[in-house]
Amino acid sequence: MIPTEFLKSREKIQEKKAKRLTQKELMNRASRASHTPGSRMVVTKGYERDVYVSEYAKRRANGVCQLCEEPAPFHTKKGEPYLETHHIEWLSKGGEDTIENTVALCPNCHRRMHSLNAKKDVEKLKVVASKN
Ligand SMILES: [Zn+2]
Ligand SMILES: [Zn+2]
Repeated sequence: MIPTEFLKSREKIQEKKAKRLTQKELMNRASRASHTPGSRMVVTKGYERDVYVSEYAKRRANGVCQLCEEPAPFHTKKGEPYLETHHIEWLSKGGEDTIENTVALCPNCHRRMHSLNAKKDVEKLKVVASKN
């Protein structure tokens, strides 16, 4: 078994290579791709999040994303606004699973935080999470 981090970093290297190809080269490679994806057994390190912290953060958000301040993009089958909880200081980087470090975000903003983690956004979320 190999760690997911390894697969991801290899994928990143390949993505960089793919970006440098000309349209023709890319077309060539893409059309020769095997139709069935390869599969590997991987191990992922997971974190046990506190469900009460998560529920508290969602209730505090009251159906509104705490970054873009727009209403949740859809409701779950149970009729609850769909928001995802995010740890401002990532758990993988030693962040705490507390209400002061947890916010509720729409999927867009959640991706944004994991992709950019822009300082301005982080600061905004810290202020939001410090209010009860
Ligand atoms: Zn949002
Ligand atoms: Zn997150």
